[in-house]
Amino acid sequence: MQYSKYYSVMADGTIKQINPFTDNEVWSVPGRRGKPPAYHQVNEPHPLQPGDKTSFCAFCPDRLFDTPPEKSRLVHNADGSFHRIDHLTPTEVKHQPWFFRRVPNLFEIVTVDYWKKNYSYYISPGNLAWKEMYLSQEAGFHHVLDVLRYKLRASGMPEDRIHAIPDQDFIAMSDAFFGGGHELVIAAPHFTADAVNVSELFSSGDMTPEEHYHYLHFTIDAMKDIFASNRYIRYISVFQNWLQPAGASFDHLHKQLVGIDDWGASIRHQIDLLRQDPNIFNELGANLASMQNLIFAENEHAIAYTGIGHRHPTIEIFSKSNHARPYEHSDEEIGAMSDLIHACHAASGSQISSNEEWYYTPIDAAYQMPWHVLIKWRVNTSAGFEGGTSIYINPIAPLELRDRLVTNLYSLRYEGKISGNIRIAEECGMRPNPLRYYLK
Ligand SMILES: [Zn+2]
Repeated sequence: MQYSKYYSVMADGTIKQINPFTDNEVWSVPGRRGKPPAYHQVNEPHPLQPGDKTSFCAFCPDRLFDTPPEKSRLVHNADGSFHRIDHLTPTEVKHQPWFFRRVPNLFEIVTVDYWKKNYSYYISPGNLAWKEMYLSQEAGFHHVLDVLRYKLRASGMPEDRIHAIPDQDFIAMSDAFFGGGHELVIAAPHFTADAVNVSELFSSGDMTPEEHYHYLHFTIDAMKDIFASNRYIRYISVFQNWLQPAGASFDHLHKQLVGIDDWGASIRHQIDLLRQDPNIFNELGANLASMQNLIFAENEHAIAYTGIGHRHPTIEIFSKSNHARPYEHSDEEIGAMSDLIHACHAASGSQISSNEEWYYTPIDAAYQMPWHVLIKWRVNTSAGFEGGTSIYINPIAPLELRDRLVTNLYSLRYEGKISGNIRIAEECGMRPNPLRYYLK
């Protein structure tokens, strides 16, 4: 295998990289690497006012009716365990504490009309019963109308036209909430427990490893339900945009799930590569990273390394399981992925804006690709040079990113803030072909 094609260090220190899965051409240039990446300044750090911790934005715990009706929530029991409750009534939602909520996205990327008009989709009997239950309660009916009116107002519709819409039309429009396929998983805290100013946001890395495991498991439960509710969905895009430079509308921690009727070009291309070489995710993923000493963390069922050929500094976390879809993983395997994702977020720190993106074998693919999660630090912006040449300048070379993460991981492990089962740097196995996705 000619690994130098993908990663080569020139005499002056320039690192030229080609991403084997996207063909992206990326350089890390010595003079530009010296300067530290711009940390995202969240806001002017003015002090928190009373009530801010629970009502700062529309995702906050005191503003339950600013989002569309809740599909599900995860409740923290007194003994530390969690349990899930689905489809609470509008009265019950106010009286049950929660740590994660799952709600429809008010502004869908792929709308319920897309499914209805293109596929004659109709909402499942279970979701229809939930819709009828929710709307039969006065508080539920008003909640749905209020949120729909807000949405129409935000789209620029004049007030007199909104008020002329008959209730029946609003009831039909609410199918987007009860049968749509674009959802949010929201964590309860907006700020950390001891925050005193608005920049002290609660991030993935601020959870305990166990809380993070439930965050992931709850998201995977949502995937299962979205597939079960709409048989035309062929892939669910799962991602987390952290802070505004990463595309987040709110600085309040949440993941998104979007059901689509297609795999998207990126997954299609990766499946094409698999047809040519079933072992490609080992060969040009883990093995290439191992030969360049980029693997920095590992546990029983997952492995993490810094990625080659990305526009932004990127962490890649791969499941080692022979199960190729998140919802086919055992709880223990999900736990291992969760521990590494959590540790990587914690090592990045809450002030780094990032995209977390999930990739996995589509429901209808005959070739298996491993479940993997990329965390991209959104610390740089492409400019004219990139536009003109299609050569991207990444301000942090993979080895430098690895070193920053390793230093932080050691401290976090010492402080007991990440899972104690994670092997760091030289403790990792580094054996060839660590990914077992192609085994039945
Ligand atoms: Zn909030």
